[in-house]
Amino acid sequence: MHKNFKNIDKTVFGRGSFDQMDAILAEKRGENNKFILFIVDYYFKGKALEKRIPAKPEDVVMFIDVDMYEPTTDQIDRIRDKVMASNGLPAGIVGIGGGSIMDIAKATSLMFTNEGSSALYQGLNLIKKPGIYHLGVPTISGTGAECSMTAVLTGPVKKLGLKCDWTVFNQLILDPDLISTVPRNWWFYTGMDTFIHCVEAENGTLKNTYSQAYGDQALKLCQEVFINEGCGQSPVNDEKLMVASLMGGLSLTYSEVGVCHALSYGLSKILGTRHCYANCIAFNHLADYYPKGVKEFKAMIEKHHIDLPQNLSKDWTDKQITDMAEVAYNLPHMWNHAIGANWKDTITINLIKDLYKRL
Ligand code: NAD
Ligand code: ZN
Repeated sequence: MHKNFKNIDKTVFGRGSFDQMDAILAEKRGENNKFILFIVDYYFKGKALEKRIPAKPEDVVMFIDVDMYEPTTDQIDRIRDKVMASNGLPAGIVGIGGGSIMDIAKATSLMFTNEGSSALYQGLNLIKKPGIYHLGVPTISGTGAECSMTAVLTGPVKKLGLKCDWTVFNQLILDPDLISTVPRNWWFYTGMDTFIHCVEAENGTLKNTYSQAYGDQALKLCQEVFINEGCGQSPVNDEKLMVASLMGGLSLTYSEVGVCHALSYGLSKILGTRHCYANCIAFNHLADYYPKGVKEFKAMIEKHHIDLPQNLSKDWTDKQITDMAEVAYNLPHMWNHAIGANWKDTITINLIKDLYKRL
């Protein structure tokens, strides 16, 4: 069976396109209880962008700090319950921020129309009804959360997305000006998530021409942003990175991620390491799986003088390493893609533990 994915309904791209939001929302404002819920990264509180949010008196604007932890099912349930109790059902929801805010906006959109806790819907196609209209405005580029069909949440039992066609945004506003303030380390780690998405998507059994066309182009853009002459944070490179993030996301959507993401999920679940940073920590040691990609990655690290910690595993207990290995092992779709249908012949818990011990 070939994958059959829904794409974003509408996308606007370009400097200053943020200011088209008011006109875009005007068409939607008549729905439900006729107000818009804006979910905004707390970073923008008091910044110039706050004044440009086209909120009307009836709208609700929530600033959310994403620094402490990644989005949780509890958090989504609380936002939904609070807004429903005070204002009713929004006409639409707008997420302005990075991958964390994208996921909060996507998940909350679904939970306004599906009963009970979001923890009940962590998995593939468990959501029963379409959510409300949702619009994404990424302010940091790399995760591909702006185009993916999943909203990753940490729940009481698992870290797993609400994954279905209705998760995908109805509208994206891609304004490269918004990513200019991203601190250098985050710019690098999050950008590398795109790079790794493409390398993993292109190296495995699910590789295909459609996915590779997006992946090749995103890799080319990543090279221009991170290694070629003229690389670094600049207006022109911000445009390239924003497009690379989208295309990298599409490349993995139509293929699959692999060994690095499996290890990264273990790090995030057991130690709480942030997704993009965890990917960088793992990818650095996976030259035997992705020789060309890791070589290029190391050159980029060197070029931008990024400090990646080494010998982390010496501080981990055997139990922590075993727990991480179990999380990683239980992602069969990633191993199946990276290694092949017979992956269990070579990939064992002990082998994965050895991979963690390299870090
Ligand atoms: P993030 O949203 O977690 O933000 C990282 C940091 O950058 C935060 O401190 C934030 O305040 C700051 N920031 C954001 N925009 C900024 C700006 N313009 N200027 C200055 N600071 C800014 O970052 P992320 O790496 O994009 O997202 C990580 C999250 O994405 C994780 O929760 C991960 O699980 C999720 N994720 C989702 C998918 C998906 O497909 N849904 C894929 C990968 C990762
Ligand atoms: Zn990723």
